[in-house]
Amino acid sequence: MTGQRSAVDRDRPPAADADPTPPPTAATAFLGGPDGNAAYADAIERARDVLLESFATSAGPYAGTDHETLRERIADLQVVPDDGSSIEDTLETVADDVLADSVRVHDPGCVAHLHCPPTVPALAAELLLSGTNQSMDSFDQAPAASVLEERVVDACCDLFDYPTGADGVFTGGGTESNFLGLLLARDWYCERRFDRDVQTEGLGPEAASDLRLLCSDAAHFTAEQAAHHLGLGEDAVVSVPTDDDRRIDLEALDSTFERLEADGRHPFAIVATAGTTDFGSIDPLAALADRAADRDLWLHVDAAYGGACAISDRLRPKLEGIDRADSIAVDFHKLFYQPIGCGAFLLRDGDRYRHLERNAAYLNPERDDAAGVPNLVSKSTRTTRRFDALKPFVTFNALGRTGVADCVEYVCELADAVADEIRADPALELCCDPELSAVVFRYRPETDSESGSLPTAAVDRVNRAIRDELLADGEVILARTEVDGTAALKLTLLNPKTTLSDLRDVLEAVVDRGEALETDREVIDSA
Ligand SMILES: *Cc1c(COP(=O)(O)O)cnc(C)c1O
Repeated sequence: MTGQRSAVDRDRPPAADADPTPPPTAATAFLGGPDGNAAYADAIERARDVLLESFATSAGPYAGTDHETLRERIADLQVVPDDGSSIEDTLETVADDVLADSVRVHDPGCVAHLHCPPTVPALAAELLLSGTNQSMDSFDQAPAASVLEERVVDACCDLFDYPTGADGVFTGGGTESNFLGLLLARDWYCERRFDRDVQTEGLGPEAASDLRLLCSDAAHFTAEQAAHHLGLGEDAVVSVPTDDDRRIDLEALDSTFERLEADGRHPFAIVATAGTTDFGSIDPLAALADRAADRDLWLHVDAAYGGACAISDRLRPKLEGIDRADSIAVDFHKLFYQPIGCGAFLLRDGDRYRHLERNAAYLNPERDDAAGVPNLVSKSTRTTRRFDALKPFVTFNALGRTGVADCVEYVCELADAVADEIRADPALELCCDPELSAVVFRYRPETDSESGSLPTAAVDRVNRAIRDELLADGEVILARTEVDGTAALKLTLLNPKTTLSDLRDVLEAVVDRGEALETDREVIDSA
């Protein structure tokens, strides 16, 4: 647009058909205008019917279809046909080829992962946030949404007893929140220790080679992933052993600090876990806060799973000390029952966001900051971002704090009850007392009088085969993990509509399957 306009341009008469004509699809394929709005209502109603029909006509947590069959079938679907068909036909295809082979997260046999049935109020909120399509990267793309997100973040900070001045942002989940926490920890530490501004100058040789972060051997892999992404390398993560309850061993932690310091390393952060993915175990947060304070380190608490305890008066004491953490990751799409994705990152001292500051002339110029205009893009590692904060807002308002707390408390009680069942069953072995709602256990084959007891490797194979077969039959979706090098099974209980009787059925299915498999030579003898 710069430069001289030629005399020819200036003198050109306007073309007769200068106004572009909207494509005919625009009338009914987009919201807005009576046609678009009616088409929206119709499409949403059809989608809802297809979903409810799919739930009503399916049994069990999964149809059991294997990945090869799904690849073959889905390979036949057109992705970008030249001409569209009706939404009705397309939704039919989705119902037959996708919904029918989706995991049914609300089924009581779906007990594998931190993968929750979403609340109905949150699903209603999803409709509003996608329908309005607000984008959280600037105030002029999301005015009320930006201010409401700030408000929801404040309320979350209150839940964790953070002081005034705390801040935070919604994230896609624990991975992003842990990354954000460690990014700020790294840059904060480098500023203090090396007088270095990592945002502009980069890491520098000393930080790149000597920064270390400590977490337990039960911490989530995203601590290592973040270290990689932050240019520190996974070797910068020092894994500290856990005690019998799968919590970080404090003595081992102290000696690890001494060793690292003697070697001239720079431990800059402790990543504590409040709710390990496998065991739900919660590290001793207050003791870790003491260590972080003594050594002037950053304490990041990965409360992706256990953060939900903060909503319950009864469970909150489990998180004692979390208010002293420099930052917290909490997931709403796990024990808080929100549809994916929905997480939050909370920062005790909001001023430390200065390490992420970013102003773009087109988005959030500095003069807006001076005027106090919400600037969420400077709190996030993302630019365009969904208004996911609306989901917990609608859920908490619809169900009330106690309504949500009841659900969280119930699934934790259910875990204790099912652990008792496992203890009482000679065919099963409990690997760890549940702390939250995850229960790790094993099938224990009967000693066969002819061949003696099965070797550990064969017991492992039986346990793995139990999980594989129950999935392939679509009967139960169990999780698998390893405990001290041996195969184990896991129930992660998130569904407040599941009963103990449902879980007795699950255990019975495990034992039946185990009994059949332990005499199956193909399974126990396979290499
Ligand atoms: C789930 C989980 C994560 C990863 O979070 P996403 O929401 O999957 O990105 C990190 N830490 C813990 C303890 C988790 O349970």
